[in-house]
Amino acid sequence: MRHSNKNIGCGSCKRKKVSTRGSQKESCNEFRSLLVRKIVGEILPHEKRELDVHLAQCLLCATEEREFSTALQRFGSLPDPEIPAELYEKTRQTILGYLREEKIRQK
Ligand SMILES: [Zn+2]
Repeated sequence: MRHSNKNIGCGSCKRKKVSTRGSQKESCNEFRSLLVRKIVGEILPHEKRELDVHLAQCLLCATEEREFSTALQRFGSLPDPEIPAELYEKTRQTILGYLREEKIRQK
C-alpha cells in the first residue's frame, strides 16, 4: 500500500497545458492515446516510432506504458487472483477513457 495515487502516471503533464519552451510536456497527452493504441495493437508504424522516441525520454510515460501493458497481459492470461477487481476496473476505465477521448478528438 505504498502509493494510492488515483491517476496513473504523468502528473506533471496531465491536463495542464504547460507551454514551457519546447512541446515536450504538451505532447505527453498526445502520446497517452498513442500509448493506449500501441497496447491494444492499433498503432500505426510511424506513430509507434514517435512514441518509442518519446518513451525513451519521458520516464512518466514509460512507467505508464509498463503499468498498462502489465495489467493487460495479466488480464489476457490466467485468471489471476492477485488482481484486485478494483484495479482491474480502474485500469480498464482508464484505457476506455483514453480511447473515448481519442475518438472524440478525431471527429
Ligand atoms: Zn510523457
